[in-house]
Amino acid sequence: MMQPLLEVRNLKKYFPVVKGFGPFKEIRWLKAVDDVSFTLHKGETLGLVGESGCGKSTTGRAILRLIEPTSGEVIFQGENIIALSQKEMRKKRREMQIIFQDPFASLDPRMTVKEIIAEPLRVFKTRENIKKRVEELIEKVGLSRSHLDRYPHEFSGGQRQRIGIARALALNPKLIVCDEPVSALDVSVQAQVINLLEDLQKEYGLTYIFIAHDLSVVKHISQRVAVMYLGKIVELGPVEQIFNNAKHPYTKALLSAIPVPEPGAKKEKIILEGDVPSPINPPAGCSFHPRCSGKKPICIEVMPDLVEVEKGHVVRCHLYSGEVKRGI
Ligand code: SF4
Repeated sequence: MMQPLLEVRNLKKYFPVVKGFGPFKEIRWLKAVDDVSFTLHKGETLGLVGESGCGKSTTGRAILRLIEPTSGEVIFQGENIIALSQKEMRKKRREMQIIFQDPFASLDPRMTVKEIIAEPLRVFKTRENIKKRVEELIEKVGLSRSHLDRYPHEFSGGQRQRIGIARALALNPKLIVCDEPVSALDVSVQAQVINLLEDLQKEYGLTYIFIAHDLSVVKHISQRVAVMYLGKIVELGPVEQIFNNAKHPYTKALLSAIPVPEPGAKKEKIILEGDVPSPINPPAGCSFHPRCSGKKPICIEVMPDLVEVEKGHVVRCHLYSGEVKRGI
């Protein structure tokens, strides 16, 4: 089989949290990303989904080394980029870009659109004709050359996100982490931006990690979906299997929260008990057990491993791991 474009192996990002002071000082660890592994092939989109605080954005940023991972490997085009020096990593960033959630905050209000899109080309001192490239990019994202001399505040949220996409495309990246790129936009504009990302993917063979807190947002753009809970992947599989045959109780609850489009159609909503536990002090055993109505005695003590339930479809739940089947 073809070598994956990206292979994430046992990625961890722990943040120290200091409690107390002096002799009473205690350092605890917030395990934002805890042993995350997956692969991604060229031209593919992996949807990364979970409630806020589950570690999905931290995973995206740790992959790009915008924050330094605590441990693990990120193999990009056959090379472990975690081992690169800062200087080597800066060069590598040409090929690995990010689109941020908030187009209002991610564009410098003092720069014109032309300057914003040209900035990465200038930083990397490309030999390209910058003016020509910027004009080409603004048109690729559905805006016009007449927009280039304007400032970000003159645009709507959807248009600003288009400018952010043009900037991310400037250096011909291979991988783009789309970090909740449509969460701040109106529903009608969300579809337009997702369609644009799909068109650009086809044209340039781009590979996406598409982060969202809502499963319905990733349905149309992703080939595979990974669901995260408290820093861990709890289910990962092809999009049809996740939507039609979800196994993990958490994925089922997220799916049940998606509104049904047909008027009058009913769907039983699964109400999760309690709140998401603190990642500083996660529960023992399966971290989902305090909210899981189907928990068994083993769930309170032992963290389940990911097990394959169908080809390419893995789930972290004792109900599928054998122990519960054997009556433990
Ligand atoms: Fe629920 Fe147990 Fe499965 Fe965790 S391992 S999701 S607690 S059934």
